[in-house]
Amino acid sequence: MEIDAWLRDGGIVVTASERAARSLAAAFHRARRAEGLTAWPTPNIRDWHSFVRSVWDERAFDGRVVLSQLQEQSLWARIVAHAAPEAVQLAGAGDRLAALAMGAHLLLCDYAPQLLKDNARAGWDQDAGAFSGWLTAFNELCRDSKLLSAARLPVEFVSSLEADTVERPPLLLAGFDRILPTQHKLFAAWGVDGAVRQALLGATAEQVDFHLAADPASELAACALWSKARLAADPNARLLIITQDERKRRGEIERGFLRFLGENENSPGPASQIEFSLGVPLGKVTLARGAQLLLRWLGDAIAENELDWLLATDQIAASPDESRALTAFMRALRRRGLQRQRWTLAEFLRQRSHAELPAELVARLMQARQRLQEFARSPQTPLAWAEFSAQLLQIMGWPGARPLTSAEFQALRRWQQTVDECASLGFDGRRIAWSDFLAALDRAVDETLFAPESQDAPILIAGPAESAGLTADAVWFLGASEEAWPAAGTTHPLIPIAVQRDAGMPHASPKLDWDLANAMTRRVLASAPEIHFSYARQSEGVEARPSRIVVQVAGLAQSLPADLTAAAIPEPLTVACDDTTQLPYPLREVSGGATVLTTQSQCPFKAFATARLDAKEWDAAEAGLTAPERGLLLHEVLHSIWGGPPNGIRTYAELAALADLAAFVEGHVVRALQEKMPARAREQMPQRYLEIEGERLVVLITEWLRFEQSRLPFTVLETEKKTNASIAGLPLHLRLDRVDRLNDGSLLVIDYKTGDAKVKSWDLPRPDDVQLPLYAGFALENEEGEVGGLVFAKLRAGESCFEGRVRAAKQTLKAGLSGNSNLVRKPLTQQDMTAWRDEINTLAKAFLAGRADVNPREYPETCKNCGLQALCRIQEIQDGAGAGDDSDGEEAAGE
Ligand code: SF4
Repeated sequence: MEIDAWLRDGGIVVTASERAARSLAAAFHRARRAEGLTAWPTPNIRDWHSFVRSVWDERAFDGRVVLSQLQEQSLWARIVAHAAPEAVQLAGAGDRLAALAMGAHLLLCDYAPQLLKDNARAGWDQDAGAFSGWLTAFNELCRDSKLLSAARLPVEFVSSLEADTVERPPLLLAGFDRILPTQHKLFAAWGVDGAVRQALLGATAEQVDFHLAADPASELAACALWSKARLAADPNARLLIITQDERKRRGEIERGFLRFLGENENSPGPASQIEFSLGVPLGKVTLARGAQLLLRWLGDAIAENELDWLLATDQIAASPDESRALTAFMRALRRRGLQRQRWTLAEFLRQRSHAELPAELVARLMQARQRLQEFARSPQTPLAWAEFSAQLLQIMGWPGARPLTSAEFQALRRWQQTVDECASLGFDGRRIAWSDFLAALDRAVDETLFAPESQDAPILIAGPAESAGLTADAVWFLGASEEAWPAAGTTHPLIPIAVQRDAGMPHASPKLDWDLANAMTRRVLASAPEIHFSYARQSEGVEARPSRIVVQVAGLAQSLPADLTAAAIPEPLTVACDDTTQLPYPLREVSGGATVLTTQSQCPFKAFATARLDAKEWDAAEAGLTAPERGLLLHEVLHSIWGGPPNGIRTYAELAALADLAAFVEGHVVRALQEKMPARAREQMPQRYLEIEGERLVVLITEWLRFEQSRLPFTVLETEKKTNASIAGLPLHLRLDRVDRLNDGSLLVIDYKTGDAKVKSWDLPRPDDVQLPLYAGFALENEEGEVGGLVFAKLRAGESCFEGRVRAAKQTLKAGLSGNSNLVRKPLTQQDMTAWRDEINTLAKAFLAGRADVNPREYPETCKNCGLQALCRIQEIQDGAGAGDDSDGEEAAGE
């Protein structure tokens, strides 16, 4: 009421923060609307920084240029690099030191301006001594170049006010938890006694509760449930949530509120009901990050995940067709195994995949690159780079053709302002390289906070300091534990501790922290009629105690009431229903071979999604060869070895006769690597890496062939045999690694494996893998002889062996097998073959009928490496239906 009356009378209110100024202005306008007014004078509310700046410009301006943050940091960086070249060798070290020095300078301006004079710091030594020297250099540079740090404005302003006897309007201060010494001097010099005073705190809250939660998640859930109930009872209520580490906890808080808040009849969705007082770094906002990446990509490589993100956010697509073409191009690159960890623009444009890049897009990107190459031949002023970077983005088509939302427009404006701020780095007439301009731009974008205009959401989330000056109908203060409140912090490393203590700088003594937290707590108590404090008993495995300051004002913490306790099992996000619709598969060829029926067995939806919708997991690029590429090379070498004359062999006898096995293998490895090594690996990896891959293959395959030398005689009939099979009418293309004829005339189906493969995966019902049973049952119909066995050939260093099922392993495979060997104990039988055939036929029929139920054969094992969770949403179904039911899990574990 006091502030409102003051403003109505035309008085000036100065707030501690911009957020408090906005909040007071919003409250003033709400009050006028509530009075039924349609027009009224703008209230005179200014935050501290804009107040000082405006008064300086009006009254004390003396021709000096007031530095922006960025300009001042660049001056400090220059001074630090000159004074301590060895300390700034590491990337980013110079900027970090400059930021520290700038912070120390600000502290001196706010708390001990007398120490800004060079001779007042005579006794400072070590790191503080170094900083003192930098500050002297900074003072000289500013004096010689007529520059002024914004942090010095209040200091300079005090002397100007003291010399000026003009009467000044009175000020009402709001939201100052603590008046800093320099502020104190300035307000004292502003006018005679009573010209400046603090707004009185409101009445202390009538209801003050202190809640104890089991852990931070329950604490957040309680706060969200309370907010929901509070807004349901009074849709016009304004709630303030105060939390420590607002920036760090933002995602967690958003998720918690979105989960529990639900719909409100006055609000379209939970997201629009909450608002954070702090913005996010501009570099995390889509448009700004996109612009950063595009500019970097013109002259340097960017990571593949950055490129994926950039293309997926439609920031260079001039039309929906271009957008689709870009996505298809990336998909085609992946499908052909052409992914790489980093992409330069030139490499990207050079790729030939099965999809085409739109010609206009290629022309735009090439033009931008060409323009940059020409312009970057000589250093330019930051102003020239800023203008040029805008042109480059325009040439590339940024920010894309789709219409921008209001928040995106605001982000675009903030990006342009930030680029303009970087242009002002040329205030000292320097010229810089493109890479230096980009580095400065990256820094500025990362340090700039962006928050879209307030939508006046009913729930505002703020840090303890940012909440100064804010009022609400009810407040919830999270994290009121002894460890977190008073908030702990560290002293500044560039100012002597004694100086910090004497000046009362933040965290210089526990008492200072206590006094500040105490003042803030009392201010919070006066900011709403209803206040809730809460803390979590356990946090990150550590037992927490209640904050003593809060206990003093709210009493001992009480367990959460039942209505603020979240259910242990969350409400399912998906509503499960029986889906009996089935879309039969039109009888045409399906790619994937036996994998189609393996996936049908593992989970019908997986087969439907991969074979019919062409859904695939997104494989990340790897630095060297990927596992499939390694497997391909190994298959190629074995195919070459067992391919028969002129270079290969076919029989056990030929294998046994080889005098130098390693040399024989090496010849095949060299040939395979020459012909089949992926071009990407050849381009990116050093020659030595490729040699090591070759040596590894020689060792592995030589060991394998030594193992095969211990077999009973055999002949290799086929390697990499391509064949077609029709299973219950489903046409499949198959490719068998190898088929041997054993000494009794029967056939042995072999599949090479370098990883773990288990015969258990063939167990019925619902086998985890049907590949070899399918080959044995359906792909050998044209071969003479019956199936004598199906085995994995396990090529693993030191563990080469066969694993599988063989009719008479000791007589046909290896005489030396022990009686305990699984190959001997569990021979292949006709019943096995029949049962597998029946199961595979059933799976094929289910696939053809369109069976696509989300039904993994063994949850969560089957889903672990599937990669389709985002599509099938199994997690949501399981969370809703099965959580807490241990019996299934135990059975599965005991199987
Ligand atoms: S993640 Fe599991 S449930 Fe989903 S498709 Fe894959 S196997 Fe089926």
